[in-house]
Amino acid sequence: MWNIWASLDWPILIKKHIVSYNKSETYNEEITSALADHYSSAITLLGEDVTREGLQKTPQRIAKAMQYLTQGYHMDAKEILNSAKFREAYSEMVIVKDIELYSMCEHHLLPFFGKAHIAYIPNGWITGLSKLARVVDCYARRLQVQERMTHQILDIIQETLDPIGVAVVIEAKHLCMMMRGVSKQNSITTTSAFSGQFQAPETRAEFLKLITSDIH
Ligand SMILES: [Zn+2]
Repeated sequence: MWNIWASLDWPILIKKHIVSYNKSETYNEEITSALADHYSSAITLLGEDVTREGLQKTPQRIAKAMQYLTQGYHMDAKEILNSAKFREAYSEMVIVKDIELYSMCEHHLLPFFGKAHIAYIPNGWITGLSKLARVVDCYARRLQVQERMTHQILDIIQETLDPIGVAVVIEAKHLCMMMRGVSKQNSITTTSAFSGQFQAPETRAEFLKLITSDIH
Protein backbone atom coordinates (compact mmCIF):
# COMPACT_ATOMS: atom_id res chain seq x y z
CA MET A 1 0.00 0.00 0.00
CA TRP A 2 2.92 2.39 0.51
CA ASN A 3 5.00 3.34 -2.50
CA ILE A 4 8.77 3.64 -2.51
CA TRP A 5 9.52 5.82 -5.47
CA ALA A 6 13.02 6.91 -5.45
CA SER A 7 15.71 4.79 -3.90
CA LEU A 8 16.55 3.08 -7.18
CA ASP A 9 16.92 6.06 -9.48
CA TRP A 10 18.69 8.22 -6.96
CA PRO A 11 22.24 7.92 -8.47
CA ILE A 12 20.84 9.33 -11.71
CA LEU A 13 19.34 12.30 -9.92
CA ILE A 14 22.61 13.02 -8.13
CA LYS A 15 24.51 12.93 -11.39
CA LYS A 16 22.14 15.30 -13.13
CA HIS A 17 22.47 17.83 -10.37
CA ILE A 18 26.27 17.83 -10.38
CA VAL A 19 26.45 18.19 -14.14
CA SER A 20 24.08 21.14 -14.21
CA TYR A 21 26.01 22.83 -11.41
CA ASN A 22 29.40 22.54 -13.13
CA LYS A 23 28.03 24.29 -16.18
CA SER A 24 27.19 27.40 -14.21
CA GLU A 25 30.07 27.40 -11.73
CA THR A 26 31.04 31.04 -11.30
CA TYR A 27 32.66 32.91 -8.45
CA ASN A 28 32.48 36.53 -7.42
CA GLU A 29 36.03 37.78 -8.06
CA GLU A 30 36.00 40.40 -5.32
CA ILE A 31 34.86 37.91 -2.67
CA THR A 32 37.28 35.26 -3.91
CA SER A 33 40.23 37.62 -3.73
CA ALA A 34 39.31 38.97 -0.25
CA LEU A 35 38.75 35.45 1.10
CA ALA A 36 42.05 34.28 -0.39
CA ASP A 37 43.88 37.10 1.46
CA HIS A 38 42.31 36.01 4.75
CA TYR A 39 43.13 32.33 4.17
CA SER A 40 46.68 33.29 3.29
CA SER A 41 47.00 35.00 6.71
CA ALA A 42 45.37 32.05 8.45
CA ILE A 43 47.80 29.57 6.88
CA THR A 44 50.75 31.77 7.91
CA LEU A 45 49.39 32.03 11.47
CA LEU A 46 49.18 28.24 11.61
CA GLY A 47 52.95 28.12 11.03
CA GLU A 48 53.17 27.36 7.33
CA ASP A 49 55.04 29.07 4.53
CA VAL A 50 52.31 30.19 2.17
CA THR A 51 54.87 30.99 -0.54
CA ARG A 52 56.14 27.42 -0.92
CA GLU A 53 55.18 25.74 -4.16
CA GLY A 54 52.45 23.42 -2.87
CA LEU A 55 50.64 26.22 -1.06
CA GLN A 56 50.91 29.07 -3.55
CA LYS A 57 47.44 28.61 -4.99
CA THR A 58 45.88 27.14 -1.86
CA PRO A 59 44.28 30.35 -0.50
CA GLN A 60 42.58 30.86 -3.88
CA ARG A 61 41.40 27.24 -3.94
CA ILE A 62 39.99 27.39 -0.41
CA ALA A 63 38.22 30.65 -1.27
CA LYS A 64 36.45 28.93 -4.16
CA ALA A 65 35.79 25.70 -2.27
CA MET A 66 34.21 27.58 0.62
CA GLN A 67 31.94 29.52 -1.72
CA TYR A 68 30.88 26.27 -3.30
CA LEU A 69 30.24 24.67 0.09
CA THR A 70 28.13 27.61 1.24
CA GLN A 71 26.18 28.17 -2.00
CA GLY A 72 22.99 27.28 -0.13
CA TYR A 73 22.79 30.90 1.07
CA HIS A 74 22.00 31.87 -2.53
CA MET A 75 19.42 29.14 -3.09
CA ASP A 76 15.71 29.46 -2.36
CA ALA A 77 14.21 26.17 -1.16
CA LYS A 78 10.67 27.39 -1.71
CA GLU A 79 11.44 28.30 -5.30
CA ILE A 80 13.06 24.88 -5.86
CA LEU A 81 9.93 23.05 -4.70
CA ASN A 82 7.58 25.37 -6.56
CA SER A 83 9.56 24.95 -9.80
CA ALA A 84 8.16 21.40 -10.11
CA LYS A 85 4.91 21.51 -8.15
CA PHE A 86 2.09 19.57 -9.77
CA ARG A 87 -1.54 18.89 -8.96
CA GLU A 88 -1.94 15.18 -8.34
CA ALA A 89 -4.56 13.08 -6.60
CA TYR A 90 -1.92 10.65 -5.29
CA SER A 91 -2.28 10.52 -1.52
CA GLU A 92 -0.02 7.74 -0.30
CA MET A 93 3.36 8.06 1.31
CA VAL A 94 6.15 9.26 -1.00
CA ILE A 95 9.62 8.39 0.27
CA VAL A 96 13.01 9.46 -1.01
CA LYS A 97 15.66 7.68 0.98
CA ASP A 98 19.47 7.73 1.12
CA ILE A 99 19.88 11.31 -0.14
CA GLU A 100 23.59 12.03 0.22
CA LEU A 101 24.36 15.15 2.15
CA TYR A 102 27.53 17.10 2.86
CA SER A 103 27.48 20.01 5.25
CA MET A 104 29.74 21.89 7.65
CA CYS A 105 29.25 22.33 11.37
CA GLU A 106 29.00 25.95 12.33
CA HIS A 107 31.07 25.45 15.48
CA HIS A 108 34.29 24.19 13.90
CA LEU A 109 33.80 24.63 10.14
CA LEU A 110 34.49 20.92 9.75
CA PRO A 111 32.36 18.69 7.54
CA PHE A 112 29.55 16.46 8.62
CA PHE A 113 28.10 14.07 6.07
CA GLY A 114 25.63 11.26 5.74
CA LYS A 115 22.16 10.59 4.46
CA ALA A 116 18.76 12.20 4.60
CA HIS A 117 15.47 10.31 4.29
CA ILE A 118 12.38 12.32 3.46
CA ALA A 119 8.74 11.31 3.23
CA TYR A 120 5.53 13.19 2.71
CA ILE A 121 1.89 12.34 2.17
CA PRO A 122 0.53 14.62 -0.59
CA ASN A 123 -2.64 16.61 -0.16
CA GLY A 124 -3.30 17.49 -3.81
CA TRP A 125 0.23 18.66 -4.66
CA ILE A 126 3.39 16.73 -5.42
CA THR A 127 6.88 17.92 -6.33
CA GLY A 128 9.66 16.46 -8.47
CA LEU A 129 11.68 13.90 -6.52
CA SER A 130 14.96 15.53 -7.48
CA LYS A 131 13.64 18.75 -5.94
CA LEU A 132 13.60 17.14 -2.50
CA ALA A 133 17.28 16.32 -2.96
CA ARG A 134 17.99 19.90 -4.03
CA VAL A 135 16.21 21.19 -0.92
CA VAL A 136 18.62 19.07 1.15
CA ASP A 137 21.54 20.68 -0.72
CA CYS A 138 20.07 24.13 -0.22
CA TYR A 139 20.22 23.74 3.57
CA ALA A 140 23.29 21.48 3.77
CA ARG A 141 25.52 23.86 1.85
CA ARG A 142 25.67 26.39 4.66
CA LEU A 143 27.22 26.55 8.11
CA GLN A 144 24.85 24.29 9.97
CA VAL A 145 23.85 22.26 12.95
CA GLN A 146 22.19 18.96 12.07
CA GLU A 147 19.16 19.53 14.32
CA ARG A 148 18.28 22.87 12.72
CA MET A 149 18.77 21.56 9.19
CA THR A 150 16.37 18.68 9.90
CA HIS A 151 13.65 21.13 10.92
CA GLN A 152 14.34 23.57 8.08
CA ILE A 153 13.83 20.78 5.52
CA LEU A 154 10.61 19.66 7.20
CA ASP A 155 9.23 23.19 7.54
CA ILE A 156 9.80 24.23 3.92
CA ILE A 157 8.13 21.07 2.54
CA GLN A 158 5.20 21.50 4.91
CA GLU A 159 4.87 25.18 4.03
CA THR A 160 5.23 24.82 0.26
CA LEU A 161 3.31 21.60 -0.52
CA ASP A 162 0.89 21.70 2.42
CA PRO A 163 0.92 17.88 2.63
CA ILE A 164 -0.90 15.68 5.15
CA GLY A 165 2.43 15.09 6.84
CA VAL A 166 6.21 15.27 6.42
CA ALA A 167 8.99 13.15 7.94
CA VAL A 168 12.71 13.89 7.83
CA VAL A 169 15.46 11.69 9.27
CA ILE A 170 19.14 12.60 8.96
CA GLU A 171 22.03 10.30 9.88
CA ALA A 172 25.47 11.88 9.81
CA LYS A 173 29.07 11.54 10.91
CA HIS A 174 30.72 14.69 12.23
CA LEU A 175 34.42 15.17 11.55
CA CYS A 176 34.67 17.55 14.51
CA MET A 177 33.86 14.53 16.71
CA MET A 178 35.98 12.08 14.74
CA MET A 179 39.19 14.07 14.17
CA ARG A 180 39.50 16.03 17.36
CA GLY A 181 38.39 16.07 20.98
CA VAL A 182 36.67 12.86 21.94
CA SER A 183 37.71 11.01 18.73
CA LYS A 184 34.53 8.96 18.51
CA GLN A 185 35.36 7.44 15.14
CA ASN A 186 32.20 5.56 14.47
CA SER A 187 29.47 7.52 16.15
CA ILE A 188 26.52 8.50 13.99
CA THR A 189 24.20 11.31 14.95
CA THR A 190 20.57 10.76 14.04
CA THR A 191 18.02 13.57 14.06
CA SER A 192 14.38 13.44 13.06
CA ALA A 193 11.37 15.69 12.67
CA PHE A 194 7.76 14.79 11.97
CA SER A 195 4.65 16.78 11.17
CA GLY A 196 0.96 16.03 10.62
CA GLN A 197 0.10 12.38 10.02
CA PHE A 198 3.67 11.31 10.84
CA GLN A 199 3.04 12.26 14.44
CA ALA A 200 0.73 9.24 14.62
CA PRO A 201 2.77 6.31 16.00
CA GLU A 202 1.68 3.80 13.34
CA THR A 203 2.51 6.08 10.36
CA ARG A 204 5.84 7.02 11.88
CA ALA A 205 6.64 3.35 12.57
CA GLU A 206 5.80 2.41 8.96
CA PHE A 207 8.11 5.15 7.65
CA LEU A 208 10.97 4.14 9.96
CA LYS A 209 10.54 0.51 8.97
CA LEU A 210 10.70 1.42 5.27
CA ILE A 211 13.82 3.55 5.53
CA THR A 212 15.71 0.97 7.58
CA SER A 213 14.87 -1.99 5.34
CA ASP A 214 16.75 -2.68 2.13
CA ILE A 215 14.31 -2.60 -0.76
CA HIS A 216 15.81 -3.17 -4.17
ZN1 LIG B 1 31.55 20.83 15.23
